[in-house]
Parts: sequence; C-alpha cells; structure tokens
Amino acid sequence: MIARMLRECAQKADVEISGIGIGSTGPVDPIRGEFGDVDFLSGWRGKPLVKDLAQLFQVKVALENDGDAAALAEAGWGAGRNRSRLIYVTIGTGIGGGMVFDGELYRGVEGAHPEIGHQVLDPAGPECSCGFHGCWESLAAGPAMAAWMQTHAPADYPHRDLTAKRICELAQQGDTLARQAIEHETLYLGLGLANLINLFTPDAIVLSGSVMKSSHLFLDGIRAVIARGCRFVPYQKTEIAPASLGQDTNLIGAARVWHYRFADRNR
Ligand SMILES: [Zn+2]
Repeated sequence: MIARMLRECAQKADVEISGIGIGSTGPVDPIRGEFGDVDFLSGWRGKPLVKDLAQLFQVKVALENDGDAAALAEAGWGAGRNRSRLIYVTIGTGIGGGMVFDGELYRGVEGAHPEIGHQVLDPAGPECSCGFHGCWESLAAGPAMAAWMQTHAPADYPHRDLTAKRICELAQQGDTLARQAIEHETLYLGLGLANLINLFTPDAIVLSGSVMKSSHLFLDGIRAVIARGCRFVPYQKTEIAPASLGQDTNLIGAARVWHYRFADRNR
C-alpha cells in the first residue's frame, strides 16, 4: 500500500522518485531501517521497510523517528536554521522531540532515540504509559490539560469534555478555570524546558505540536519559569521559538531525513 501511494503521489506531481525519506513514530531502528514495537503498526516489528522500498523503487531510502525527522527539518530548513545546538519539542497527544547538535542528529546507544517526554517532573504525578509517574508527557501533553480540567471543574461548570484546543480558546475568552489550566500547563511546560536548558544549554528550543498552536498563551510564562531556576547557565541565550514549518513539519522532516543521510554528506 505504501508503494502504491508513493507511485500515485509521484504520478500526480509528475516527478520521478529519486529517493525516499521516512519519519515514523518510534521505536524504529534508523541504522538497520527496521521497525520496533510501534503501537499502531502491530505486526511490523523487525520489518525491513527501508530494504523493501529500496529494492522496489531502486533508490536510496532512509528512516528516522518522527521526532528526529522534524528536528532535522527545523534545524535545516526552519526556525532552527543557523543554530548550532537545537532541541525540537513537540507537545500534542504526547511529548517528544529530537536534538541536533552541530548539524548532527543526537543518537543514543545503538542509534537509540532519547525520550525527552519521559523525564519525571513529579513522582507523585499521574501514571504514565512508560511505567513511571509524573513524566513531562503525563503532566503537560494535551490529554493532561483535558484531565486537569475534568478534575478541577465544579459541578456547575458549563463546559464538558474539553480538548486542549478548546481550553485554549476558552482561556482567550477570559474563562477563569481555563486560564488556571493554562497556568498549570505553563508551569509544567516551563519545568520540562528548564530541565533541557540546564542539561544542554542549547542555542534554541523550537516548540511544535497541537498545543503549541496557542504558544502565545504560554511563552511569557514559560520564560518566567526558566528564569526562576536556570541561573547557573546562560538561559537568556536560549531562544524559545515556535516551529516555523507549521503543519508540514513531519512531511518536510521525512524529506530532510533523506537529505541528511545521503545528500549533506555520507553517513
Ligand atoms: Zn513516562
């Protein structure tokens, strides 16, 4: 099916496929070009997608974790251009990201992708899918905002089953409880980002994901949290910027994966 979609896409655009880049939800093995236990791709574990597509299309194919792909996109063609040390963070249904230092994607042991969303901010916090309690993701991803509202809404609160997007809208309209939810969200976004700044002192952190579509509601507060606890590093020099490639970051990231692997120089 992937092959058919690629062929149709190339036909519509009237181009030849000269290479294929893939950004996929993890875990993936970028070096071997294989999938791990990806939640919504059951049965794909160990499938050599890169090898199969390369054989089928007779082109070079590269695979990365989607957070890393988007980080490469922002570092190469987006808000992180000309930044030596860039951390990309996406805040949506979960929290993930990627790090690009001096043009190189940071990889852990055996090519592992670091899970910035699973840094623990409060061991007494909500249970997380990873096994810990109070991970950044469990406290500050979109569903965490919705859960906070659910817990704190009085019985006569007129809005129910709110999404992060709707909470942001209500906060903008002046709703008191929604504004408190934004304050809570801002604190935890700020703490997670402050940790990244204390650990890595990057030139820039680029923020993406559905929650960050309302980044103007959070940015000043995030900067205040960072200023409170990052005094041993030059935190003022870390630019906190919304992603610049918008909706297409992941698509552009997939393309960037190919360029990073094969066109920039041999890796
Ligand atoms: Zn976790």
